[in-house]
Amino acid sequence: MSASPQASTHGLNAPQREAIHYMDGPCLVLAGAGSGKTRVITTKIAKLIEEYGYEARNIAALTFTNKAALEMQERIAKLLKEPKQAKQLTVSTFHSLGVKILRQEAQALGLKDRFSIMDSDDCFSLVQEMAVTTDKQLIRRIQTAISLWKNGLIDPDTALNRAQDEDEAQAARIYRSYVATLSAYQAVDFDDLIRLPVELLRHNEQVRDRWQRKLRYLLVDEYQDTNTCQYELVKLLVTGLGKKPMFTAVGDDDQAIYAWRGATIENLKQLQVDFPDLKVIKLEQNYRSSTRILQAANAVIGNNPKLFEKSLWSEHGLGDPVKVMAMDDDEQEAEQVAILLSAHKFERRAKFSDYAILYRGNHQARVIEQALRRERIPYTISGGQSFFDRAEIKDIIAYLRLIANQDDDPAFIRAVTTPRRGVGQSTLETLGAFAGQWQCSLFEAVFKGGLEAKLAERQLAPLREFCTFINNLETHAHREGHAAGLLDDMMKAIDYEAYLYDTFDDRQAQSKWQNVIDFTTWLKEKGSGGKDGTDDERSLLDLTQMVALMSMLEGKDEEPDAVRMSTLHASKGLEFPHVFLVGVEEGILPHKGDPDAPADTLGARIEEERRLMYVGITRAQRSLHVTWCKRRKRAREYVHCDVSRFIKEMKLDEGDAVPTEEETITPQNRLANLKALLQKPRAA
Ligand code: ATP
Ligand code: MG
Repeated sequence: MSASPQASTHGLNAPQREAIHYMDGPCLVLAGAGSGKTRVITTKIAKLIEEYGYEARNIAALTFTNKAALEMQERIAKLLKEPKQAKQLTVSTFHSLGVKILRQEAQALGLKDRFSIMDSDDCFSLVQEMAVTTDKQLIRRIQTAISLWKNGLIDPDTALNRAQDEDEAQAARIYRSYVATLSAYQAVDFDDLIRLPVELLRHNEQVRDRWQRKLRYLLVDEYQDTNTCQYELVKLLVTGLGKKPMFTAVGDDDQAIYAWRGATIENLKQLQVDFPDLKVIKLEQNYRSSTRILQAANAVIGNNPKLFEKSLWSEHGLGDPVKVMAMDDDEQEAEQVAILLSAHKFERRAKFSDYAILYRGNHQARVIEQALRRERIPYTISGGQSFFDRAEIKDIIAYLRLIANQDDDPAFIRAVTTPRRGVGQSTLETLGAFAGQWQCSLFEAVFKGGLEAKLAERQLAPLREFCTFINNLETHAHREGHAAGLLDDMMKAIDYEAYLYDTFDDRQAQSKWQNVIDFTTWLKEKGSGGKDGTDDERSLLDLTQMVALMSMLEGKDEEPDAVRMSTLHASKGLEFPHVFLVGVEEGILPHKGDPDAPADTLGARIEEERRLMYVGITRAQRSLHVTWCKRRKRAREYVHCDVSRFIKEMKLDEGDAVPTEEETITPQNRLANLKALLQKPRAA
């Protein structure tokens, strides 16, 4: 069979083609930013289907964010003669693949297929309760420990045995009850989405065999950021007895930025150990950025020790100089970026969506948002959890979760108390104790005999009423099969709008209600298979689980022409013609880190921060502006800031590094500057 003209590898370079056509076994493409690794994956998938006779449903590609997955699927569709085939592919994050496996194999795990996915707040409250403390730092440390144990595939008993001191032992004991409680709720946390499938595939040959036959070719993007557990999942999916492991992984050790979540660069080396036949292919031509940007990126990352030797070059020409600008404070920084962006956009006849503003931490976003709003610049935020983290959205999600899984106690508590239905704290405590006695969920406990002895009729009645209400919605959801219809009825029945106006002042209530409307509209759109309505309609359960996954890393859908504001972490794999990298100061990038961390981890931490800087720089295609502030407001006071070592490491020409007076645009000299900018010759 010959390849379609669309899926041809024409225009790709020799090592890219080699990676695409390598079908003799496992293959690793190890290459720097913008060298076309993701492109290798999309083209290879098209080739697998059109040239190597694979069925789309037998191919899985794993990416890091839902958005990246979506984009990948679209790109593949464009490469295929029959674009529809792309729908049959499994293109998803590790976590979504985990959900898929868990849903299908729930029984083997003793889990309902309608399990809940706890968000990090739920997990936080759970640990808080178990640790009997209000010390947030301590709770977070325990949470991190639990997460690292889970990702390292260490069970509670082993964790306890290995504990070095009483603190660790306490964390391990909490880990044990945490696991037990989740299981009682028929719930999993984010780490479980990968850990449980791994345990299952490891111990259940039949299940492993089924998935190996289903997913015959595996592709992994951003391989450098997989953790032990994710690596294990890949391994289990590809290594069958007497069968050649078939997968292609692509990655860049210089872009490993998830060590804090347990990702280990060792996995890159381990791959060569576990698969001695591994074919390693390197790509060295960068197709994304102009040379000056690339030089700055190479110079910065050159300060890190090398795991694998690589050097990147580009054919795009020198391009614009990288601009570094010192700002007086963060307010000025935000304002300058907004003004400069407008001018730049006008000058280049660019679109808003050609721009990204990247920063280290979510807290930096607020002042930039305000400045963009003042300048009437449309923007979308990714990497923050702002939307799904809002109380009103979580309320609605709690209802959905509870309708899907009545054992979900955290969802029960949230839903039964919002709006208040005359169910008070003491009623809930009594119910909780009763459920504990019977080892059942709160929901089930409401209808258990014996509860009348513990609660007065006026306490019991609203509980029963609530549960009947949920039951009815559940029946409704079941009958309809899809979520869209249910949502309207549910919203009406809860009368959430009235609740908001009763509880908050009018302005707040209005804005919260608007959020709820946005959310339900979005959900309905997803529920009916997207804007084009071509997909199958999704069930409520699908949607609830999808929302849980969405909230993990990224925001809601975005506006078509808007500036992208994003954390550096969430910008991975993306590219933008023009990038503003803000807040590049000591203490922010590199981040100041945990003051209690042992001194010997400092070097590794700075190296990780440097990789983050490298990721930021290499998102830019044509222009890059880097800003830092001389002082910054912290809790009403200004603190002095130093320019980041990474700016010095970019080794820019003096002329680029220091902004001249006239380049600092103030509202006063703005017009003159705009004119000056427009008269400048356009860079090639
Ligand atoms: P990152 O490390 O940031 O994820 P990457 O290695 O995955 O980068 P891609 O995103 O695949 O790089 O490619 C970078 C850009 O270069 C894309 O716009 C892609 O379409 C383009 N590109 C890749 N290969 C080629 C090629 N052979 N010829 C022309 N353009 C290419
Ligand atoms: Mg990529």
